[in-house]
Amino acid sequence: MRIDRILEEQRPCFSFEFFPPKDDEGMDRLWEALTELRRDDPAFVSVTYNAAGSRGGRTLEVVKRMRSELGLEAMAHFTCIGSTVEELRATLDEMRSAGVENVLALRGDPPRGETEWKATPGGLRYSTELAALIAESYPFCIGAACFPETHPEAVDLAHDIGFLREKVDAGASFLITQLFFDNDLYFRFVEEARAAGIGVPIIPGIMPVTNFGQIKRFTEMCGATIPSELDRELGARADDADAVRDLGVAYATLQCSDLLARGAPGIHFYTLNKSPATKAILAGLRAARPWDRALAPA
Ligand SMILES: Cc1cc2nc3c(=O)[nH]c(=O)nc-3n(C[C@H](O)[C@H](O)[C@H](O)COP(=O)(O)OP(=O)(O)OC[C@H]3O[C@@H](n4cnc5c(N)ncnc54)[C@H](O)[C@@H]3O)c2cc1C
Repeated sequence: MRIDRILEEQRPCFSFEFFPPKDDEGMDRLWEALTELRRDDPAFVSVTYNAAGSRGGRTLEVVKRMRSELGLEAMAHFTCIGSTVEELRATLDEMRSAGVENVLALRGDPPRGETEWKATPGGLRYSTELAALIAESYPFCIGAACFPETHPEAVDLAHDIGFLREKVDAGASFLITQLFFDNDLYFRFVEEARAAGIGVPIIPGIMPVTNFGQIKRFTEMCGATIPSELDRELGARADDADAVRDLGVAYATLQCSDLLARGAPGIHFYTLNKSPATKAILAGLRAARPWDRALAPA
């Protein structure tokens, strides 16, 4: 089913993101996590594409298996990285033949070890061009990324939002945010986006902290900030992995509860191919039903 339709019919809309494993052992672990998380009845799941410039190309294989073996609505992420337009079209053709209905159109990040993003000769430069290419020739529902703390390469928020509007005009019918820890950043961003004429659902992307070192690396890479109070509490538990995970789950549950109570359309969980944190947060949310208190949709 198309995600724009799911978003019209289902509130809140919970979705889970995974990355394609490098080897068969990783695939087994992913399937264990998926089997667990499937019981939580996600509205859709998604699979990243060559994230952090990595190679592997198993996105479509994983998406196909999720659809055929588990009956999940699986969205393929897709980037402009390292491909000419002809090659992009070839992969999109494959997705269409596989019955994929939803694609997250992205530019992608520079390959590991490189800092500057360079377009491939004969390829595309921005995700807007990819969204336009897809909208022109393929029947997919198109999603795209957005950045409550502004994309690290953007001149400023106003420019970033201006380009986001172009991306939506090119065909993106929903947006998923980069991870963030301060909900006011999300609501301010949604307000700015609405003021710029962007009307599509903006799903907050949440990464429960399960490892202090890892979240420090991720946030540095993507330009998200950890609020000083959370940073302090995590730092105080840095030598105790269980305590960090417990705090991560508690913080993310409070954060998601507040987002849903203030009208966010759902939550996109960055699962990192693990199930326990996401399951615990969802159990708390479904028990407390904060969305019943929502005043107006964000
Ligand atoms: C939900 C989500 C999922 C992701 N999944 C993946 C994945 O699977 N694989 C992966 O490699 N990466 C993934 N990423 C990371 C993403 O590819 C990077 O953050 C990348 O740096 C930006 O991608 P984008 O699609 O937003 O790029 P764009 O929309 O192309 O924007 C990139 C930069 O260019 C600027 N810009 C846009 N249009 C123009 C223009 N016309 N002129 C000048 N400047 C412009 C923007 O302001 C921004 O600063 C994901 C990110 C998110 C939030």
